[in-house]
Amino acid sequence: MIEKELMFDVEKIRKDFPILHREVNGKPLIYFDNAATSQTPQQVIDCIVDYYSRYNANIHRGVHTLSQEATNAYEEARIKVQQHFNAAKPYEIIMTSGTTDSINLVANGFSAILTKGDEILVSALEHHSNIVPWQMLCEQTGAILKVIPMFESGQLDMETYTSLLNERTKLVFCNHVSNALGVINPIAFIIEKAHEVGAAVLIDGAQASPHIKADVQALDVDFYVTSAHKICGPTGVGVLYGKEEWLLKLPPYKGGGEMIDQVTFEKTTYAGLPHKFEAGTPNICGVIAFGAALDYMNNIGFETIAAYENELLHYATEKLLAVGDVTIYGTGKKVSVISFNIDNIHPYDIGTIVDKLGIAVRTGHHCAQPIMDFYKIPGTVRASFSFYNTKKEIDTFIEAIKKAKMMLS
Ligand SMILES: *Cc1c(COP(=O)(O)O)cnc(C)c1O
Repeated sequence: MIEKELMFDVEKIRKDFPILHREVNGKPLIYFDNAATSQTPQQVIDCIVDYYSRYNANIHRGVHTLSQEATNAYEEARIKVQQHFNAAKPYEIIMTSGTTDSINLVANGFSAILTKGDEILVSALEHHSNIVPWQMLCEQTGAILKVIPMFESGQLDMETYTSLLNERTKLVFCNHVSNALGVINPIAFIIEKAHEVGAAVLIDGAQASPHIKADVQALDVDFYVTSAHKICGPTGVGVLYGKEEWLLKLPPYKGGGEMIDQVTFEKTTYAGLPHKFEAGTPNICGVIAFGAALDYMNNIGFETIAAYENELLHYATEKLLAVGDVTIYGTGKKVSVISFNIDNIHPYDIGTIVDKLGIAVRTGHHCAQPIMDFYKIPGTVRASFSFYNTKKEIDTFIEAIKKAKMMLS
């Protein structure tokens, strides 16, 4: 135990994050909105500065040295992502602008595959970015959208899920971890059952990625998507992992430079993977910095991160419940996210008061309105912890919550 604590020195880690040393409203910043976006360590900031200071150039095009350096760094980053998610091939990793973009790429591809009467299953716990593209797809193709229901506990109803699967089911979509509740979904089971009826599965890993290292081959998942900005990387960068057979089947999403083989006005042939899906100049610097972010996190180690965050989760849950009149939504196996309400106090009012005390939490529906409708609430207060947060910050947060409760009830 002592050894583990020595291995994980949170004060040392905090030194890597310049933003954690600023003040907000005259108080030291306490950043508990990690589920919306994570903060950026100096190592990643340095990587961005280094790119623009030394080798900013377009990739895959020029023979000149700068272009070759940028191309090498970009492709090295792709391999870092491949290794991180244990994909079989580097070209199964498509760089996108984020989770939303990755999902839209797949949805667009399936519009050429689905026909009327085909069925798509989505979980009741989805982020809007994993609902709306499928609704658009169903409108286009005549496919039918069905919902895997949830229980009061925030767990998905796996019995109903199994009964919804049939030979018309072509696609199943579910997040690995719910961003609104922090609940970890049984994706291995979901994937296995979907495959029994020949359906493909897309897992939205945006909320899982900061806490759990997914192994796409072990999961046998068809598509896995995430965003760099939730894993200490920059905004505007994301990943689509797709099994080679699927990526070959799907048509390109965007037309433009980089994604073509031959272009004439009569006919254009497309480039091979991964370039077929990477039209135009990508976020070169962002992708390279994403590689640096994965290096940073893997250096600490995901098991170490998860163990520490779990400690924060349990500490905060206990202290919060002790405040009284607190309802926490989502129980069972969770990452370090607490979604809660106090009595009949509007979450927005709590968020505003704690912000005055320098504490950043998210309030509202968390891009998951159907979940809020399920609980018949306007929203929640969501505190989400990262490995750079501390118990001391949680203590300050609890004092702020007590104060807010006193002022508002
Ligand atoms: C953040 C998040 C998204 C959206 O990611 P973007 O980076 O905004 O595209 C989708 N799903 C889940 C579960 C998320 O947490």
